[in-house]
Amino acid sequence: MTLAEKLVKDHRLTLEEYKRLLDDRDEETARFLAEKAVEVRKNLYGNRVFTRGLIEISNICRNDCLYCGIRRSNRNCERYRLNPEEILSCAEEGYGLGFRTFVLQGGEDPYFTDEVLCGLLRELKNRFPDCAVTLSMGERSRESYQALRDAGADRYLLRHETADETHYGKLHPKEMSFENRMRCLRDLREIGYQVGCGFMVGSPYQTNAELAKDLQFIETCKPDMCGIGPFIPHKDTPFRDRAAGTLELTCFLLSVIRLIHPPVLLPATTALGTIHPLGREKGIQAGANVVMPNLSPVSVRKKYELYDNKICTGEESAQCRGCLQQRMESIGYELVVDRGDVRKDV
Ligand code: SAH
Repeated sequence: MTLAEKLVKDHRLTLEEYKRLLDDRDEETARFLAEKAVEVRKNLYGNRVFTRGLIEISNICRNDCLYCGIRRSNRNCERYRLNPEEILSCAEEGYGLGFRTFVLQGGEDPYFTDEVLCGLLRELKNRFPDCAVTLSMGERSRESYQALRDAGADRYLLRHETADETHYGKLHPKEMSFENRMRCLRDLREIGYQVGCGFMVGSPYQTNAELAKDLQFIETCKPDMCGIGPFIPHKDTPFRDRAAGTLELTCFLLSVIRLIHPPVLLPATTALGTIHPLGREKGIQAGANVVMPNLSPVSVRKKYELYDNKICTGEESAQCRGCLQQRMESIGYELVVDRGDVRKDV
């Protein structure tokens, strides 16, 4: 039996085997895994692709992650934050367009205290009781995560970025720690959020040994969601001259992740759409089942620049949704009006 066949059968490999699967991968294996991943996903979710309306609420950040365009020390970044009114009106527009999940994402902006966020969450849940709210606001204390959950947050996205502690140290400043990242993910899980982790593909210093650890992490942690996308350099960061991650490896990993943990919610990310004009379609065809069109006001979209040449910064929200709908239909999928919860019954 090949390693790919073993993965399909057992939903797991050893650390050594994950590495070998990546080292020895070729087009034929990629095709085989994509076919199996799509089959597994179709059994669970049919041809339905879930959408989340992404609202980029602030690019002000106290952190200094070496890869990120909105890192604290980037003086060229023009800073903004949306106030609760503005965020609510993005959601209002999104609701009309058929979104039933909103993702509030941002830098670690001290303005968004528990008090501000809890007020906003209560208002969102009050106005849109049939919607799920996802937060993606970085590392906070357990008490804070608890308060936000009590105020109505349903899900939390916090990519682990890399499951290797040494590698983590090379991507982040000294004051950040792998241990705290893991603590956050544990707390979120215990508090009862649907939790998303994830990592960048092709980030500096990453080899197949680190990726094998990421895969093993997903196997053991079984997250409800997993966001992966290619690393893309940003001109005002220390990693400006690094190569971007590839479409090929990202799609391969999407297939593998689907097979490791079949019900996982797996987005075909904007970063994937940025490195290739059909990146998101190819992501879905590799096993992803979520897309996240941008609902931010057009006036701020260019400023939320995590990496160079980010797509979808010029269009209105309705255009973004329409564009993705067409893209999904062109490959035989359907964009649905639904909260898009993970299947827990399997
Ligand atoms: N402050 C929040 C949100 C971060 S932005 C948090 O800490 O979770 C969301 C994700 O964008 C990050 O987790 C990271 O994986 C990704 N990202 C940041 N810079 C990137 C880059 N240069 N290329 C690709 N993805 C990047």
